[in-house]
Amino acid sequence: MSNLKRAYNFNAGPGALPLEVLQQAQAELLDFSGTGMSVMEISHRSKEFESVIQTAEADLRELLGIPSNYKVMFLQGGATLQFAMLPMNLRATGSADYIVTGTWSKTALKEAKKLGAAREAANTEAEGFNSLPAKLDLDPKAAYLHFTANETIHGVEYFSEPTPPDGVPLVCDTSSDFISRPIDVSKYAMLYAGAQKNAGPSGVTVVIIRDDMLERTPANLPVMLDYKTLAASGSLHNTPPSFAIYIVGLVFKWAKKIGGLAAVEKINRTKADLVYKTIDESGGFYRGHTKPEARSLMNIPFRLPTEELENTFASDAKKNNLIGLKGHRSVGGMRASIYNAVTVEGAQELVRFMKEFQTKNG
Ligand SMILES: *Cc1c(COP(=O)(O)O)cnc(C)c1O
Repeated sequence: MSNLKRAYNFNAGPGALPLEVLQQAQAELLDFSGTGMSVMEISHRSKEFESVIQTAEADLRELLGIPSNYKVMFLQGGATLQFAMLPMNLRATGSADYIVTGTWSKTALKEAKKLGAAREAANTEAEGFNSLPAKLDLDPKAAYLHFTANETIHGVEYFSEPTPPDGVPLVCDTSSDFISRPIDVSKYAMLYAGAQKNAGPSGVTVVIIRDDMLERTPANLPVMLDYKTLAASGSLHNTPPSFAIYIVGLVFKWAKKIGGLAAVEKINRTKADLVYKTIDESGGFYRGHTKPEARSLMNIPFRLPTEELENTFASDAKKNNLIGLKGHRSVGGMRASIYNAVTVEGAQELVRFMKEFQTKNG
């Protein structure tokens, strides 16, 4: 272990995992819980795996304060499959409303439109997806109102939920800010998150859904697309992504150990403040993409004066062991993803490098 070289990891997803989690997985890889097998090699019906999935759910319920009239599911197919499963299960013959604030909500709406009626309650694309909508055009009869809590590519985050019309369920894609701060789950009818941004490896998607929503599932859905059946089976209708569930369980334990989501948020704010302050005090050398009031705590897209400098920034950063800072190909520039597992030290290294780079190239 003495020559262990861990990168400062700013990847957008899959992203950084807590070192302690990786070390625990490593320590019990060959002999999980006295079985003489790895967790990947045991039956998903064994008492050992039952404990893994039940503990993961219990820890998540505690972390987020999930009320007892909600089910928690561990599904496959990524957040992208939820873009389709959600309207298939919850829309029936009605129309659904979508707030479009970036690439992910735009993609979710596009997918929903393939299968039935869906409309835009707002769309901020004309301004370059750099803010939250000033007002919403809401359908009072919508089957649900969908929003994306954090736009991973554009760095736009909601810090308080949009308010749907009375009786319209609120649904949220929280893939990239899942368990990054406390939220009031009771405001939502459903939340979903691909694990690989903040909560674990790819391969598992967490779905939290209020019980009454399950009554909407039509009878004729293929079973792997059917929330009602999947929820009733405790995510064990077929073989679940057992290793990924095991890792998200370790991440939930880690988040509890460091003090729960209030403590996690405090650390996340410290990191984000460091980076935004460096951008704001750079005299225009670094330019943030997002308007201050909508700035994401998780993903920080920013530009440099020229594309050439951006390329140099990325390659110099890499030489300094700062990885994953190139922006998404659709927006260009840089992006620092500072998920839960990125340490304050990592953010300090990044801003140290940013200041040094500006001194040399500004
Ligand atoms: C990454 C991401 C997705 C897509 O997730 P997959 O698990 O790759 O399908 C959807 N929404 C948001 C907000 C994301 O960040």
